[in-house]
Amino acid sequence: MKPEYRMAIAIEQPATILDLTYADLVAWMKKHGEATFRAKQIFQAIYRDLVTEYEQITTLPKALRARLAEELPLVAPSVARELHSRDQRTIKLLLELSDGAQIETVLMLYPPNPESPRARATVCVSTQAGCAYGCTFCATGQMGFARHLRPGEIVAQVLHFARLLRAHPWSWPVVPNAAGSQHSGALDRVTNVVLMGMGEPLHNYDNTLQALRLLNAPEGFNLGARHMTVSTVGLVPAIQRLAGEALQVNLAISLHAPNNEMRAQTMPVARKWHLDELLATCLDFARRTGRQVTFEYVLLSGVNDQIPHAQELGRRLAPFGPLAHVNLIPVNVTAAGYRPPSGEVIRAFRETLRQAGVSNSVRAERGDDIAAACGQLRTLNQRQSLHPSGGPAS
Ligand code: SAH
Ligand code: SF4
Repeated sequence: MKPEYRMAIAIEQPATILDLTYADLVAWMKKHGEATFRAKQIFQAIYRDLVTEYEQITTLPKALRARLAEELPLVAPSVARELHSRDQRTIKLLLELSDGAQIETVLMLYPPNPESPRARATVCVSTQAGCAYGCTFCATGQMGFARHLRPGEIVAQVLHFARLLRAHPWSWPVVPNAAGSQHSGALDRVTNVVLMGMGEPLHNYDNTLQALRLLNAPEGFNLGARHMTVSTVGLVPAIQRLAGEALQVNLAISLHAPNNEMRAQTMPVARKWHLDELLATCLDFARRTGRQVTFEYVLLSGVNDQIPHAQELGRRLAPFGPLAHVNLIPVNVTAAGYRPPSGEVIRAFRETLRQAGVSNSVRAERGDDIAAACGQLRTLNQRQSLHPSGGPAS
């Protein structure tokens, strides 16, 4: 049954400090007769010292602290639910925004490995409450669209986990490195941000880009563009626009099928932009930016996981050469009833892609014991609140 999505109250939220770029804040200081160097102090306090309220910024005059709290509040969403995976490497939050809209945010911790010698702390953020695109395998898509998130609401998700890691650095078990020596350590910061939570980032283009610029700002959080990934269902004009941005973030395309007919069966967006047009736009993006594009491919047993599908995908991606990478994702089970393929089917799919010269990987399953696929936790929470005496929905 399609879960009902409680519409968020459609009022325009007032700006918070987290919606403002450094330049915006400097302008605000000027307009309000305050010294502009205060902007730097505030940015550093929020994005580096990770303060949670203005009272903690003791370098600011009391009157300015009070004025900021009144006019540019430093707000954080409240945690409605927090789940930790059994291996303690995935934390999933259901956050409640000021108007009651609920979104999901996930922290994923990765120890060093031969391909990626540094440990990573990746935050998967939401860009909208709900989603308008209705992909059939996606729990968020089945909720419908509630509203866009403001830049500050996107940034706040990252700050939440940045504070958590600062307070409780993550220590991973000792792992041997490629040279055979042991490597251990502790990670106290967010290293990567992926826009793979609820919503379609490029449908909320301006707010999403503003959030990425805020996280990238050297005066503030200072996260490199190469450590940020936009994942999109494939909004062709918005991808073209993204290619021209000064901020060169990674692009991931939710492809999920090797041809348009099959794609249209699970992804209504394929009726708006044909796969040929999408791939041509991606090729242009890859060539213009010199960056590899990741193609996400959710494997749905008996639907898109057969060898001819892998062969067709390989042919489609051949023009990209090394500028394409396929990330295979065995589907997380939702109410829609799709099943992930067996390990054997996945291996055969990968081998076929490899023979076609397409680099590929399988996304390690993260936190499947805590309903980690986007939209699943909110759906679960809603069902539980509808039936408070019942156990967790399967
Ligand atoms: N709207 C964007 C970003 C959010 S979805 C997009 O579609 O790319 C992030 C990723 O999760 C997408 O690749 C999406 O297809 C995938 N996804 C959605 N539902 C899933 C499920 N049940 N199992 C595995 N991956 C899923
Ligand atoms: Fe929206 Fe992405 Fe889910 Fe499709 S997969 S419904 S675009 S969030």
